Amino acid sequence: MKVCVECKKEKPLSKFGRKGHLIRSYCIPCDKAYKLRHKALVVADPTRRRKVQDQVNECQEANQRETRSKATEHYGPWTESDDAFLRANWDMPRKEVALHLGRTYASIATRKLKLKKLSERLAKEGEPDAS
Ligand SMILES: [Zn+2]
Repeated sequence: MKVCVECKKEKPLSKFGRKGHLIRSYCIPCDKAYKLRHKALVVADPTRRRKVQDQVNECQEANQRETRSKATEHYGPWTESDDAFLRANWDMPRKEVALHLGRTYASIATRKLKLKKLSERLAKEGEPDAS
């Protein structure tokens, strides 16, 4: 059992999120509420919003530079095994996927969007996967 620092209620450890091997100080509902409040603050404040967007852009540009410098398949056609790897590792960080496939950060984003649209279209049409 652990006491949440926000709601002060004693709850089992399973009601607390984890960060690596550490257990969070906020219980899961309080943690969610905190994140929503924080997000609302950022969204409501143009200066903070711009700052967050700048950080995201900076991070994406750095990822793009790094993956591009290592890309061996830059502009190469996508193969079935590339797509299979993407589908099997859908939640893997984009940069890791890019480095694994020898492609750029941006090309992974574009390809994932394309695969997603394709599978949505196929699901709607009810046709077998013909890609
Ligand atoms: Zn709590």
